[in-house]
Amino acid sequence: MSPVIRRAVLGTRGPNPSQVRSVTAALAVAVVAVGGWALVERAETVETLLFLALAASIVSVGVGYLSERYQRRHLEQLSDSRDLLQQTVRSPLSVGALLGRLCKIFGAGFAEVVVLPDALDQAALLVRVCGGQTTETSEAVDQDLLADVFSVTVPASLSVVLRERAGPAHGDAILARRGLRGAVMAALSVEGTILGSLMVGRGQGDPRPFTDEDRRLLEALAPQVGVTLEKLRLDERINHQAFHDSLTGLANRVLFADRVVHSLERRVEPGRLRAAILFIDLDDFKVVNDTLGHPSGDLLLQGVTRRLRRVVRPFDTVARLGGDEFAVLIEDLTGPEEAVAVAERFLEELTGTFDLHGTPVTIGASVGIAIADRPSMTYDHLLREADVAMYRAKERGKATVETFDAGMQRALERRLRLKGDLEKAVGAGELFVEYQPIVALESGTVVGVEALARWDSPSLGRIGPREFIPVAEATGLIREIGRQVLRTACEQAVRWSVGQSGRNLSVSVNLSPRQLLHPDFAEEVATILRETELSPSLLNLEITENLLVENTATTMERLHALKDLGVTLAIDDFGTGYSSLGELKFLPVDSLKIPKSFVDNVATDERERAFLAGIIGLGRTLDLRVVAVGVERADQLDELREMRCDLAQGFHLAEPLDADGVSELLSQPAGAATADCGRRPWKVTQARRQSGDADSLPRSA
Ligand code: C2E
Ligand code: MG
Repeated sequence: MSPVIRRAVLGTRGPNPSQVRSVTAALAVAVVAVGGWALVERAETVETLLFLALAASIVSVGVGYLSERYQRRHLEQLSDSRDLLQQTVRSPLSVGALLGRLCKIFGAGFAEVVVLPDALDQAALLVRVCGGQTTETSEAVDQDLLADVFSVTVPASLSVVLRERAGPAHGDAILARRGLRGAVMAALSVEGTILGSLMVGRGQGDPRPFTDEDRRLLEALAPQVGVTLEKLRLDERINHQAFHDSLTGLANRVLFADRVVHSLERRVEPGRLRAAILFIDLDDFKVVNDTLGHPSGDLLLQGVTRRLRRVVRPFDTVARLGGDEFAVLIEDLTGPEEAVAVAERFLEELTGTFDLHGTPVTIGASVGIAIADRPSMTYDHLLREADVAMYRAKERGKATVETFDAGMQRALERRLRLKGDLEKAVGAGELFVEYQPIVALESGTVVGVEALARWDSPSLGRIGPREFIPVAEATGLIREIGRQVLRTACEQAVRWSVGQSGRNLSVSVNLSPRQLLHPDFAEEVATILRETELSPSLLNLEITENLLVENTATTMERLHALKDLGVTLAIDDFGTGYSSLGELKFLPVDSLKIPKSFVDNVATDERERAFLAGIIGLGRTLDLRVVAVGVERADQLDELREMRCDLAQGFHLAEPLDADGVSELLSQPAGAATADCGRRPWKVTQARRQSGDADSLPRSA
């Protein structure tokens, strides 16, 4: 054999045993064919029979060899497939390529893989190659799909050959659904868990049946496919976890931001709006969480998610931003009313009760809407606007929808300005304290004062604490401001007690939850008391009722730590929060402060009077003193006195005063306060302050 021919037949590296066998078998078949033809031509019967017997044995060896070769080819292809599988299967294209390879191995025109989801309410992945075309679909997990996948496990094996008209047990329905004549199927299982199925099939035009050998081959291949797909699923799950909220399956903040940014960058047709954001906050979710426990809270969040999904289009992005805050991105709107309609539909959906482990619960939500109607809008801008609108909705009485508007824009700008100015103001000594007298109704004497923070900004004028305290809370400055108010008030209380010997004037200081919940707070109070030498019993700390709803264990611990210092505690704005009356008796508090809104109509509205009488009665039962705040008229004072309310505070008695104003009031005879004196307009305190007398907070370093 010439080297050239040798190379052509055997390859350049010399023959390997299989190649030698291959050539030998081909020659044997050729010899048999030529010999047989020559004998038939000569019609010699005995020789023909002998030859045929010999030929039969040679052919059987040849066929055996060819079958071995066929298997070898399979194994080579198996190895090819394994290589392919070992590349991480990331896209449907590579799953498609894998299926294409399976088609080649089995000489089939159809291959399919079904991957079941983690939970039955999610979709299964179905990738099919048919006639060289790959399609990928998400399929609902219904009975048909499950029957198809699990038919491979019958009877007690993990693969099966399906033949047309072989009976239902042999998968006639499976073949019919796919227009196949025959197929071979294997389970995709990893560590005993069926993840899905793998199928290779032949159409009506291909009569070749699949054999048991095909079945074994597919079964051998299936674990590799299973492992690869499991890796793919793991990758997807990791990917999913990075961008989704694990409790609800909704987009998380990161994914939501990405989608919003993307939608803001899109071009839109003239007359259409790019996007709208709905910012949703559940009303009083904490109450559910605290009274029914976190598992019920989680169940509620999942229920809310389902209802929220019902009111949006499939391509709108729904996200959980954290806690009980949700957001929806609506793209490509015809107008703002479209976003409002979605929000209103959601509130409507929410009206039905939720069943939380047997307890029926209803919940509302406040929704703020921001519209991306300017090309310059950024994600932060849009989210802030939606947030501001949501807060406005909450202020308006919850379960409402508000769209961000110019008024809110101004409020937002002012808030941003205050945020910037407040820190400088603290350093520049622009903050100071005023004191509003608290009067004992029975005796008419001033028994205490409430310290109230004030801010006179050179550029913005007087800013009330209702405006700047929330800003201080949001920026964290509240701890510094609170510390300064506390120290100033304690120092002043000592001065009064020295100046007015015999009159123990207590001073009440408002605490923000952030201060109280700080682990060092009790220590700070102790230090201030020690350094100012104020008797702890003269310091009263006011906490808001809402604080009692949150962080119950920590709050109780902090309150007891304060009580141990010898100070008294009051619940401010009592009745506006959601503390449970049942728990009130376990709280280490000494008094309740009734907000102005409950006092306003006490002289004119019978129901409000009864309500107030109820709170005063409760206070008496629990041995708590009751302070009515916001008394503006004599008739209110009369009613309160009749109800045997202990203490009162209000403009009718005295407005907040500077320290000297309080001293002046204290020098008047007892009873003067309730006899309508001591009322001082702001300008008096202002004038004093300008003359340098006001109780300015120490400048912070
Ligand atoms: P609050 O603790 O309920 O204080 C009583 C508020 O009611 C004061 O408002 C007081 O001026 C007002 N008020 C009292 N009597 C009357 C009345 O007859 N009519 C009317 N219209 N108002 C009356 P102010 O000083 O604006 O303080 C508002 C809130 O800001 C306080 O409500 C308190 O929650 C908070 N705050 C004030 N200073 C501080 C502080 O130093 N720290 C903290 N964390 N919060 C403070
Ligand atoms: Mg207060």
